[in-house]
Amino acid sequence: MRLVLSVLAVLLALPAAAAELVVYTARSEPLIKPVFDRYTELTGTKVQFLTDKEAPLLARLMAEGANTPADILMTVDAGNLWQAAEQGTLSPLDSDVLRTNIPAHLRDPQDRWFGFSIRARTLIYNTDQMQPAQLSTYAALAQPEWKGKLCLRTSQKVYNQSLVAQLIAANGMEATEQLVRGWIANLAAAPFASDDEVIQAVASGRCAVGLVNTYYFGRQKRDNPKLPVALFWADQGEGQAGVHVNVSGAGLTRHAKHPEEARKFLEWLSTGEAQAMFAQLNLEFPANPAVPADAEVQAWGPFRQNTLNVAEAGRLQAEAVKLMDRAGYR
Ligand code: FE
Repeated sequence: MRLVLSVLAVLLALPAAAAELVVYTARSEPLIKPVFDRYTELTGTKVQFLTDKEAPLLARLMAEGANTPADILMTVDAGNLWQAAEQGTLSPLDSDVLRTNIPAHLRDPQDRWFGFSIRARTLIYNTDQMQPAQLSTYAALAQPEWKGKLCLRTSQKVYNQSLVAQLIAANGMEATEQLVRGWIANLAAAPFASDDEVIQAVASGRCAVGLVNTYYFGRQKRDNPKLPVALFWADQGEGQAGVHVNVSGAGLTRHAKHPEEARKFLEWLSTGEAQAMFAQLNLEFPANPAVPADAEVQAWGPFRQNTLNVAEAGRLQAEAVKLMDRAGYR
């Protein structure tokens, strides 16, 4: 009896331990902290987080092994999520909520990661130099009429590796290599280090057309509405695949100390308010199709997305890198 009483006394003396959650995130602090803060406000669950680039975060997770404090790994690009899963750092998460809210092509077929926002990678053009009717598909930019008119970001960037990987999945190795060779033959300048530089090169008229993620375009237009650059949704014609999309996403870590808290947080992240906030902070599109994009993003007009599973971007990443190297894409 005395033992029971003393245990009770100890329990009563302790404040109810606040639930907590640890997230490793390659999404930068300004783009994610408001989401964590809102979750804490709603649930009381404390979210600790560590931000870094994808590669060091993944290396850290692997080095820490079973001792990692991380419950969730959050990063951009399905290629990176696929790598993390391949390295065995993520655990399948069996959730009807996530399977219902996140379309099948935006999550791992084995449930080890889920996309929470869509990033579209499409064409931009100089509005002083040309008409949108001159544009159609990613592949059309390999035609000789675009010689000296195309600007691309470096093939080192995972965004382009994922794009080429998805082109391989859709069209096969040979056709994709020909396509990439065509792009390289049409370059107006050596590949740029960033999407922002591609947008600037198109704005300056150095090239007529480029290929970028739409949120970079959105940010630059916000800063400078007069920029003579517009978006063009690629591959929208009948029989064409649709705009190349990728995700910003997350998964439960294999050695999570708070797996139940992690599941609750990720399920919340797939619902209305969280989806809207997560996407809007970086001018991306919500992954949950029931949640509308921010007005600024909606103004770019509707488009049909490519529904090939984004996991293909990871599966074919190594092949894509080799193919771009063979095609002279630096
Ligand atoms: Fe980016």
